[in-house]
Amino acid sequence: MLPEDIEGDLTKVLVTEEQIHDRLNELAAQIDADYHDKDVLLVGVLKGAVMVMADLARALSIPLDMDWMAVSSYGASTKSSGVVRILKDLDAALEGRHVLIVEDVIDSGVTLSWLRENLLSRGPASVEICALLRKPDAAKVEVDVKYVGFEIPNDFVVGYGLDFAEKYRNLRSVGILAPHVYE
Ligand code: 5GP
Ligand code: MG
Ligand code: MG
Repeated sequence: MLPEDIEGDLTKVLVTEEQIHDRLNELAAQIDADYHDKDVLLVGVLKGAVMVMADLARALSIPLDMDWMAVSSYGASTKSSGVVRILKDLDAALEGRHVLIVEDVIDSGVTLSWLRENLLSRGPASVEICALLRKPDAAKVEVDVKYVGFEIPNDFVVGYGLDFAEKYRNLRSVGILAPHVYE
């Protein structure tokens, strides 16, 4: 199922390609219903949310716009530093828009709580969050997330957009990265 040279880098597969597909279809049905009378702007958080955005957007039936932001917490470690900066801002103005942030994973919650406040300050009609993964045991900041794909344990995961040092984003499933890869 995984290329042989990558299989040894994962301790286990947490969420399979099929589980992701099925769950995104469920979330898309909810989002279709919630936004049936609204114009939605999907805001993808680069780069990790690229796969979620591509699959979620195609599972939705409502008309939608897409835009992208890149944010970073400083450092290239497996832990979030808590300092957020904008690397690439949105093209779209948010005044009066219904914004749905599309994110790969919520770990401490620091990035998303900062991002939500930042987008709210631009005068949108609403801001909600859809995240494929959430690690409840890692939460440092409470984030109100309307759509969550899967709750996962507090391990460092890769695949389906999620990287370690820019690798593993193209894995079709989400797996736990073996500590020997980064320690
Ligand atoms: P937070 O601010 O919630 O702690 O973390 C947000 C960002 O850190 C995520 O959007 C993601 O880019 C990165 N991150 C957090 N946990 C993981 C993980 O397990 N694997 C990978 N590849 N990135 C993670
Ligand atoms: Mg992310
Ligand atoms: Mg990363």
